[in-house]
Amino acid sequence: MSKYVFITGGVVSSLGKGITAGSIGTLLKKRGLKVSILKIDPYLNVDAGTMNPFQHGEVFVTDDGAETDLDLGHYERFIDETLSERNSITTGKIYSSVIKKERRGDYLGGTVQVIPHITNDIQERIIRAGEGLDVLIVEIGGTVGDIEGQPFLEAIRQMAVRAGRENVVYCHVTLIPYLEAAKELKTKPTQHSVQELRRIGILPNILVCRTSHAMDDGMKHKIALFCDVPPEAVIEVRDEPTIYNVPASLHRQGVDDLILQNLGMSGVSGPDLSDWHTVSDRYMNSPEEVKIALVGKYVQHKDAYLSVVEALHHAGIAHSVRVNIVSVESEDLETGDPAEILKFADGVLIPGGFGDRGVEGMILAAKYARENNVPLFGICLGMQMMVVEFARNVCKLHEAHSKEMNPATIHPVIHLMEEQEGIHDKGGTMRLGAYPCDLAEGTNSAKVYGELHISERHRHRYEFNNAYRERLENAGLKVAGVCTERNLVEIVELPGHIWYVGGQFHGEYKSRPARPHPLFDGFIEAAARYMRDRAKEA
Ligand code: GLN
Repeated sequence: MSKYVFITGGVVSSLGKGITAGSIGTLLKKRGLKVSILKIDPYLNVDAGTMNPFQHGEVFVTDDGAETDLDLGHYERFIDETLSERNSITTGKIYSSVIKKERRGDYLGGTVQVIPHITNDIQERIIRAGEGLDVLIVEIGGTVGDIEGQPFLEAIRQMAVRAGRENVVYCHVTLIPYLEAAKELKTKPTQHSVQELRRIGILPNILVCRTSHAMDDGMKHKIALFCDVPPEAVIEVRDEPTIYNVPASLHRQGVDDLILQNLGMSGVSGPDLSDWHTVSDRYMNSPEEVKIALVGKYVQHKDAYLSVVEALHHAGIAHSVRVNIVSVESEDLETGDPAEILKFADGVLIPGGFGDRGVEGMILAAKYARENNVPLFGICLGMQMMVVEFARNVCKLHEAHSKEMNPATIHPVIHLMEEQEGIHDKGGTMRLGAYPCDLAEGTNSAKVYGELHISERHRHRYEFNNAYRERLENAGLKVAGVCTERNLVEIVELPGHIWYVGGQFHGEYKSRPARPHPLFDGFIEAAARYMRDRAKEA
């Protein structure tokens, strides 16, 4: 059986438990251990697939087509492991499976209850997610004291009985607020949230304290005394200029040693964090800056395009440029002058999205970038709108009757395939998860990938309509990538343009801080070139 690190949160939400989990994961991995991370979300949705990005931020998709919480993206980026459906559980998932078993009669006439049936199901999933690992890190979403989190906290308390107390570490992430009027940090909320944990039988081993001001030793001793942890287990995490500083900060304070000691393990000493140092250093200190217009429809929510934003930074890190991402509400382009609004940009990125709102603005952004030779990168809906723009303005393919032909699409070049349900074996009516793609030799895509057979993750209903492929290609659009087994167009390019690439998939999910995604890499490289050329001209 694996050993476990359970991460809970106290006082308020949004303390960065996911980043703490990811950072602990990378430290343990770099000490030679086989690790993975499981996210528990106490909401009733079965998965994040139905959640609105305005409320919940991005939906992260795994290779096996699971639609998950965005924290899984942090985990993949921090521990550089490919996660799956097993790495995400929700209250909805647990209850559906227990109720299904109940209907099947699996409980042999017994009364089915939260304890033990729900809590057992949770534990079995935790154990399954830990199979074959040295350490499984489990992050419990929400805050201690929430009604919906209780069965999960009870389950992780019982895990110490199942696995043995010596095989389990509880790490509590909490807030030490600074009171402006008193000019003081306050420990009371932390004391109370630890009391709440202890009331349900969990004694934390480590307290990760999020704070805006430095904590002195006296304060750490006070917290240690009240919360019954050793003073060296009171860890201070200040707000950092980049989340990629967190692994090194936790390591400096001995968190990895502390966890290994608590678990009776010895890892290789001194994890090599040089790649994290390079990432942080370049992120903070690169002298040049490229400005990218992110023309989206969920731009008000700071996490709606989280993986896209991270992937842009990864590419910036690789090219030693800071990436200044400026959100542009696509609807604003419909009422304003796109050339005026976008003239600041060294590159235009049109990300994914659902529904009609804002698509005309995306089409205008694509037109501006195509006509003015500005680097352009479209992802999923963004790629689809690049194709529509090209069909309309270059091929003069008019869509007068498109709404009648297919009320769900704005132009027939992008359509819902009839056999949709049949071809999508990974769930529902969407193409979800990893699909292979073959690249055309000599294209920008082939150049940046450095290989011709790739695999990328999808999450969409509509597809490029092959009935128009020849006309679009004759007008100059290049099909650079195809999912051969299903004859689906995956990448389009425009030869001769500084950088014009649209991909039907979400490359951002596979980007890593020290290994940027090839298409983001190529896009930022082109944007940096554009920025330098513009500076020379000025
Ligand atoms: N709405 C489009 C589709 O369903 C694009 C989806 C996306 O961008 N993820 O195909």
